[in-house]
Amino acid sequence: MVVYCPKCGDTMDAVFEDTSLKEASCRRGNMELSAVAVQMVNESFFQAKSQPKSAVSDQFRGGSWYCPQDGARLKWVSAKGYLCPNCGRSMPLRLIRHLTEYHPHAGKG
Ligand SMILES: [Zn+2]
Ligand SMILES: [Zn+2]
Repeated sequence: MVVYCPKCGDTMDAVFEDTSLKEASCRRGNMELSAVAVQMVNESFFQAKSQPKSAVSDQFRGGSWYCPQDGARLKWVSAKGYLCPNCGRSMPLRLIRHLTEYHPHAGKG
């Protein structure tokens, strides 16, 4: 299985256990996902299909994000947040916040 960097879309160095993501790091961005981020990526993109639970304010729009599961660039959909046009999964806001706060990515982000 492959996981794509949510910040740049490159394939990451990843460790899976069965179908669960355990570790992932982006070589290009020199960014390693924390355990919390790995868990969120796992739940939202590799386990059950996640759908946004509540309306998402447009104030959270910003930056560009990629689907960890297939590498497609996520599209902002008003009131729904960032959705993958390929697989329909959504990037949870708490994951975006976590990545923005704790995961500097070399080059950008
Ligand atoms: Zn990256
Ligand atoms: Zn996708």
